Amino acid sequence: MITAPENPSASPLAKPVATIRGVGPERAAQLARLKIATIEDLLLHRPRRYEDRRQFRPIAALQLDEPATTHGTVVALGVKRFRHGQKSVFELILDDGTARLHCRWWNLPFMEKYFEVGDEVVVFGKPLLLKPRTIDHPETEVVENGEENFIHLNRITPVYPLTEGLPQRWLRSLIWRTLQDAEPNISEPWLEPLQVTGCGLKVEGNRVAESAKPSTSNLQPLTRVPSRSNAIHMLHFPEAPNDPEIARRRLALDEFIGLQLRIQLRRRKFEAAAQALPCGGDNHLIKPFLASLGFQLTAAQTGVLREIRADMRAPLPMRRLLQGDVGSGKTVVAACSALMALESGYSVALMAPTEILAEQHFRNFQRWFEPLSLCVELQTGSHRTGPLRSTKPNGQARQNAPAPLSPARTPRLIIGTHALIQPDFEIDRLGLAIIDEQHKFGVAQREQLLRKGRYPHLLVMTATPIPRTLGLTLYGDLDVSVIDQLPPGRGRIKTFVRSPDQLPKVWTFVREQLAQGRQAYVVYPRVEEAGPGGVKAVTRELANLERILAPFRVALLHGRMKAAEKEKTLAAFRANAAQILLTTSLIEVGLDMSNATIMLIENAEQFGLAQLHQLRGRIGRGSRQSCCILVSSADGDEARNRLGTLEETTDGFRIAEADLKMRGPGELLGPQQSGMPDFRFGDLRSDGDLIQTAREQAIRLLSRQQ
Ligand code: ADP
Ligand code: MG
Repeated sequence: MITAPENPSASPLAKPVATIRGVGPERAAQLARLKIATIEDLLLHRPRRYEDRRQFRPIAALQLDEPATTHGTVVALGVKRFRHGQKSVFELILDDGTARLHCRWWNLPFMEKYFEVGDEVVVFGKPLLLKPRTIDHPETEVVENGEENFIHLNRITPVYPLTEGLPQRWLRSLIWRTLQDAEPNISEPWLEPLQVTGCGLKVEGNRVAESAKPSTSNLQPLTRVPSRSNAIHMLHFPEAPNDPEIARRRLALDEFIGLQLRIQLRRRKFEAAAQALPCGGDNHLIKPFLASLGFQLTAAQTGVLREIRADMRAPLPMRRLLQGDVGSGKTVVAACSALMALESGYSVALMAPTEILAEQHFRNFQRWFEPLSLCVELQTGSHRTGPLRSTKPNGQARQNAPAPLSPARTPRLIIGTHALIQPDFEIDRLGLAIIDEQHKFGVAQREQLLRKGRYPHLLVMTATPIPRTLGLTLYGDLDVSVIDQLPPGRGRIKTFVRSPDQLPKVWTFVREQLAQGRQAYVVYPRVEEAGPGGVKAVTRELANLERILAPFRVALLHGRMKAAEKEKTLAAFRANAAQILLTTSLIEVGLDMSNATIMLIENAEQFGLAQLHQLRGRIGRGSRQSCCILVSSADGDEARNRLGTLEETTDGFRIAEADLKMRGPGELLGPQQSGMPDFRFGDLRSDGDLIQTAREQAIRLLSRQQ
């Protein structure tokens, strides 16, 4: 049986650290604060950085503002107090024969007790003065005369993350001793050795290696990946500056393989237990639906539908992620999929993250499906409509009449929000569950919806283009379809970054557009809070905007409004009774109004790129040219570059990659995306190749097992 490295059965590495000689209860508690519980945890404690102590920088050669490691003998030390003893500075003066170095610690007088004249001290820090040479708050280690100096000196020395009361040297010695004893117990978790090319890892002896075989000889030669035990050794005792990175990648690969194995095993379990409902349909509804649509599906949409139909006919339930940039037309694909299930006599549930979006879908589906004599129901926190009942913009429906039970066997189509996963919601014969804007939901919520039926088919949709590496980690158990084409006849979107002092010009432009009959979104980052940096609050901006843009009408939409108010506001905007919608990032998802061609975003630097791209996706939905203006007062190069990416491209993938590189996966996915494993060594930003290799390895290991 293959087990992930995290759960080896009775390995000696699984023993608690307290079983190590010299680790008493107090030390064990300190280690626990560093999330070190077992011997294996200790061996995987990753150094925060390394110091090359084979050659110390002479004190005389220290450079201003340049971090360096040096050492010397303490020639003087003392604490000076000032401001009536409230403030202090502790100073330590070192000499290495080339010059003297002053090390200072402000307001930490107790530091004095750690040093004595005559001590040898290693110092790491950044000189902030050269006359005299001074480093404030350096990291230090007193060299003790003993046989253990080869652990701490004369080599590339690891510096570990610590916790209060835990000395660097003690931890380094402990890891060294433990490694000596444990090294023979570190086994290969994946049964067979792996191979590496250059700094990329390749697998030996299967298709992957074949394709990696150099046809031209300019590929780097294959070298072996270090064994796990070697990698752990290199992590703590690197011999060359590059060793830690080689070790990190090997250990990251183990993490990724462990994760992929768990994903694949979950998938297998599902495949063994699940039985699909026959939901392929017979076209009797889809045909008239497509004929009445008024446009032709794009080739990409048709292709995806073919995949979905094949899935819904297959013996296993569909588990599919539909990825398509904003405006690529995912809703129609969802509608066709729903029709397949309905044709087959099964019910469909479509869940969206906000009431606004659920209501928009409800309206569209009603318009589309009523001619087919299908009834569409809406279920949200504030609405509940039964079959043949239209929306009532308040809570009455709920109090007076719960959704009437549909006649047995009549398949239902229910659109809703989180209300669909509440315990009191039930649906008979659920054949297909669709989740829109899936990145707004957690994995658990997806499962809750699925449990409303017996292995229904699942289609999740997202416009946040997830870079492939992240997709394999997050959605490794889903098949992926991509709509890589926008419907024809879309006007282009031009994007500009502007500073606040250019706003008068911008408003003139907006007024011109409004005068031509267009509509505009104006977005502020937050509602009713003026945070640092002078974030304008959207409610206070209303009057201002009305004044600037009169006689055009401004409607206000924000998250703290009641559902009925929101709906009224949107209805006014939809009917062009208001020409400007002033809002927060609330409109980020899904809203589809083709007459709106202007998107103005204030304090744009406060948003992530992927989020700005989503916001921008609200325009460019008709045939006219649209314009997105990002107003930002941030003048740092980094902020400029970031927003510049949006001026350059409308390719959601490039934008998401850029966001991932700059801000990391958490930002891209939002806080809702739980279930993301914490990697010690793996880095989703840079380890795409490893994740790919891990997936292949996991599949191969599992197929060997049978
Ligand atoms: P998203 O993928 O962002 O959810 P939508 O499904 O909201 O996009 O579609 C955006 C707009 O494009 C909608 O108004 C939809 O009716 C329209 N649309 C979808 N497919 C096509 C197509 N093949 N041709 C023309 N318009 C389309
Ligand atoms: Mg959508």
